[in-house]
Amino acid sequence: MGNVGNAQPRQAPCERPFHTFVVSRGGDVVPCCQIFVDRPEHRPYIVGNLFDFDDIFTVFTCRTMAEWRLELVDFGPKREPCRTCSDGDFQGSPEEIDLRKRIKELITAQLAGYGRALPVGDRLRKRP
Ligand code: SF4
Repeated sequence: MGNVGNAQPRQAPCERPFHTFVVSRGGDVVPCCQIFVDRPEHRPYIVGNLFDFDDIFTVFTCRTMAEWRLELVDFGPKREPCRTCSDGDFQGSPEEIDLRKRIKELITAQLAGYGRALPVGDRLRKRP
């Protein structure tokens, strides 16, 4: 059923898109297991289709996935569907807080590098 749809707005980070993504039978890619391609309200969160990418590593490192991670790496307001999701928290230990700071720096640098426009960029969906 999934954990998206809670009334309490999420502020916590989420680690899921840092280590996984999900591919449907038809090849549609979504950032985590709480997003379902067969739900009309979740269709806007499809990153793209596996056949649009050169390989699976390009999916994992694409700009859209990096943008999801940047929003989820730290505490703060989240957009849908993460805003109403209760799944996948970080533990919040001092080690994890330090790691999140480092990850945030790396993602920010990665996104700055996308200013040169990757070849697959035009084929990806923007997150609403
Ligand atoms: S907060 Fe929920 S919907 Fe968002 S990426 Fe994490 S598990 Fe998925």
